[in-house]
Amino acid sequence: MNKIYAVIGLGRFGGSICKTLSKEGYEVLAIDQSEDIVNEYMNIASHAVIADATDKKTLIALGFRNVDHAIVAIGDDIQSSLLATVILKEIGVKKVTTKAISDYHEVILNRIGADIVVQPERDMGKRVANKIISSSVLDYIELSDEYSVVEIVIGREMVGQSLDDLDVRSNFGINILAIKRDKEINISPEPDKLLTEGDVMVLVGADKDIKRFRNHML
Ligand code: ADP
Repeated sequence: MNKIYAVIGLGRFGGSICKTLSKEGYEVLAIDQSEDIVNEYMNIASHAVIADATDKKTLIALGFRNVDHAIVAIGDDIQSSLLATVILKEIGVKKVTTKAISDYHEVILNRIGADIVVQPERDMGKRVANKIISSSVLDYIELSDEYSVVEIVIGREMVGQSLDDLDVRSNFGINILAIKRDKEINISPEPDKLLTEGDVMVLVGADKDIKRFRNHML
């Protein structure tokens, strides 16, 4: 059975989530308290409804009990964001992802039972900063405070070496998930295959170890 998603608050963040999920073919129940905004999503989401997400009865009447994953993307109104999150968990929505606008907001959301909390500006800021620090880093995904997945262009001195030669697992405690070459991605790179210029490594490891590895490459 296909998952049912709900997006609450159709500003830039919620709107973008709603458009992406809908484009991927998922059923999305989109709500916002503003009529003008909801009108924009009539032809995008499976159901777009004008509603106040802090009203439990309304959410139940809209069928939120059947929602598998709800995304609360209410902007600056912290009170509504908290209340909507609590109500969704009370109703029994399995997974609730809520956007926080500050660290305090995030702490409270975690306390009241939000399953996932995101701070889009902060998270994207970190990602962009990590790309900026090193021109060799193509992409960066934070797995936790300590661990990340990083896409990195291999250093010149690695050209002609094999993964066995580099042995990043014992030398740096890092795992290589894949090697990208041109448009091809090899998700089980052979240990004896030689690296060539422009190869991109997808690594997973502790941030401190990835940093050590990057410094070593420079
Ligand atoms: P962004 O920074 O992602 O653009 P906005 O603050 O512009 O966020 O958007 C938040 C949206 O959430 C607005 O469209 C607003 O109408 C909606 N919203 C705020 N409170 C509620 C609520 N209680 N119920 C439903 N929608 C709400």
